[in-house]
Order: sequence, then C-alpha cells, then structure tokens
Amino acid sequence: MTDARITVKQGDITKTEVDAIVNAANSSLLGGGGVDGAIHRAGGPAILEECYRIRERQGGCKTGEAVITTAGKLPAKYVIHTVGPVWNKGSEEEKTLLKNAYINSLKLAMENEVATVAFPNISTGIYRFPKKVAAEIAIDAVKAFLRKNRSIKQVVFVCFDQENYELYTSMMAEE
Ligand code: ADP
Repeated sequence: MTDARITVKQGDITKTEVDAIVNAANSSLLGGGGVDGAIHRAGGPAILEECYRIRERQGGCKTGEAVITTAGKLPAKYVIHTVGPVWNKGSEEEKTLLKNAYINSLKLAMENEVATVAFPNISTGIYRFPKKVAAEIAIDAVKAFLRKNRSIKQVVFVCFDQENYELYTSMMAEE
C-alpha cells in the first residue's frame, strides 16, 4: 500500500525545505565525510557546537539512537543526528540497528513537534550497507511508524545517487 505521506526525491538533503533533516552521523557526533560533512559545511558551526554539548552531557550517540540540534543556516529548523550501523556480516542485529535509526529519528521528530522530515539513505555510503537491503528496511520502518502516528505529515527520502533513487522509486511504486 502506498503512503501519500512518503515521497522520494533525488538531490542534496541540505537544500531540502522541511522541518527537520536527518543526518547519518557517527557515534562521536564530531562530524565526518559524506552527508554529515555536507550538513556541517552548509549549516555552519552552530550545529557542531550543539553536538559538543550533547557529547558533554551523554558522551555521543549510540548506533541506532538519535539526538537533535539546531539546523544552523540550513532551511530546516532541526537536524536529527542518527547513527546507522556499519555493514559487516549483514547480521540481524545490523538490520535491527538500521531500523532503529529510522524509528528513533521519527520518535525524536514527533517529540519536537516536527511535521515534515527528510532522510538520507543511512548507512549506504561509508558504512557499506547494500543499498537494496537498506532501502527495504528504511521504507518498511517509516511506513510502519506512519501507520501508527499521525502527527508527522510528510517524510521525504532524499537520494543522493542514482542507484538509490531508482531503488526507492521502484519500491515505492510496487507496493
Ligand atoms: P554512512 O556512514 O551512514 O554510510 P554516508 O554519509 O557515507 O553515511 O552515506 C549515506 C548516504 O548519504 C549515501 O547514500 C550517500 O550517497 C548520501 N549522501 C552523501 N551526501 C549527501 C547529501 N548532501 N545529501 C543527501 N545524501 C547524501
């Protein structure tokens, strides 16, 4: 069943006009490459300053969990930083952790009265998750969450590369 509250786009998540964009961060919260680097570069130092404060409070962010900061200069209001798992053996635990990253980001969005959220394709870059496996987990997790929670009005999957974009559009059309 398609969900009218889910859309797929191709592009740069830092330019997406939503209430909150999700960052595929690492557990140090100190910035990295990929989408994390792009978010910190475009959003400016205010994001990293808040990440430092979160580190002082709770020592970073565990895999599968999420924290929220300002979005600095970005069009969004918040950045939700979540940490996806590294693909190692493709264990059930790795898959569950990826699902948790999506669910915990959406929970945090709800708690902060966020109505529109954009996700990158978490763990499919430096963390090497196979794109198809990751897309199935992402779509299933978001759909299940939206079925139970009505306050989030729109979720956008922002695909950076062509392969992810094609996977998401065909999977969303299938169901
Ligand atoms: P991870 O460590 O979770 O794998 P990466 O940042 O390496 O995180 O990659 C996650 C996904 O984000 C990849 O599919 C990558 O193509 C994508 N990506 C990289 N830059 C951007 C961007 N500016 N906007 C949206 N997605 C991006």
